[in-house]
Amino acid sequence: MKQEQLDELKAKLIKMKEEVLNGSYLTSKEDLHVTSDDLPDEADLATNVINQQVSFNMRHRELTKLRAIDEALHRIENGTYGECEECGDSIGFKRLNNQPFANLCIEHAEEAEREQMRFLKHG
Ligand SMILES: [Zn+2]
Repeated sequence: MKQEQLDELKAKLIKMKEEVLNGSYLTSKEDLHVTSDDLPDEADLATNVINQQVSFNMRHRELTKLRAIDEALHRIENGTYGECEECGDSIGFKRLNNQPFANLCIEHAEEAEREQMRFLKHG
């Protein structure tokens, strides 16, 4: 990969990281506790539970993304960025441009996805 491509992806990763860190999912504390000011009826209560679950999932996803971004930045530092962790093949600039924190080539990413689907299907 050309140095300027690497610089471009690094800048992208840093921007993504800032966006996650400044994003409302990680900074918002509103959903951490339910206000007891007025007692909600059952429907409201259910909505609250769903909202909490959704916001938990969002936050979890953001944290996972943050970790992936950090790992990618670390790989840039030690010169292994852009290589598939499974086979060592070059991931390719086009794919990295779409997903700068990708750590698998398209082939192995699809395989990992299939594994995950199978896992979800069979619990
Ligand atoms: Zn691979």
